[in-house]
Formats: sequence, C-alpha cells, structure tokens
Amino acid sequence: MSIFNQAAKTILDMARKCPKCGNEQVVAASMKKESVKCKACGAEVPPKR
Ligand SMILES: [Zn+2]
Repeated sequence: MSIFNQAAKTILDMARKCPKCGNEQVVAASMKKESVKCKACGAEVPPKR
C-alpha cells in the first residue's frame, strides 16, 4: 500500500457522517472515542465502533 493510500485511509478513519443530515466532517484523533457536534445541524455524531 502506498503512502498516499495510508494517508487517505487515516483521513477516512477520522471522517464521521452525521446520522441526521449526512454531513461529513473530519474529527480530531483525540475525539475519536467521543461524540462530536455536527457542524451543519448541531446533532450529536456518535463515534464509530
Ligand atoms: Zn448534521
């Protein structure tokens, strides 16, 4: 796997999709296990398992 693919995988890993409006946003690695607020609609976006 190339370095580019690894970087893309890391970014995809950090991206989270809002269950309410479908907005995707990148979540900081430190927030990986925390719920975050959707930037678009303010709904809680739960962490991935
Ligand atoms: Zn949303």
